[in-house]
Amino acid sequence: MKEGIHPKYYNDAVIRCACGNEIRVGSTRKEVRVEVCSKCHPFFTGKQKIVDTTGRVDRFLKKYKDYRIQE
Ligand SMILES: [Zn+2]
Repeated sequence: MKEGIHPKYYNDAVIRCACGNEIRVGSTRKEVRVEVCSKCHPFFTGKQKIVDTTGRVDRFLKKYKDYRIQE
């Protein structure tokens, strides 16, 4: 690889979910924050189970609910 034209690649990057789950990945970003992951998303778990410590998930769900009502 030529120096300077590729973004820095982290082999130990981590995706942090709002539920507390962490997923180790390779990424050009050191840390990625997400609101749902495969462990807490209702599609995968089959039930609503979110540990919300910051209120971000709550706000997201409210926004999503409003969006659904408008349809
Ligand atoms: Zn999660």
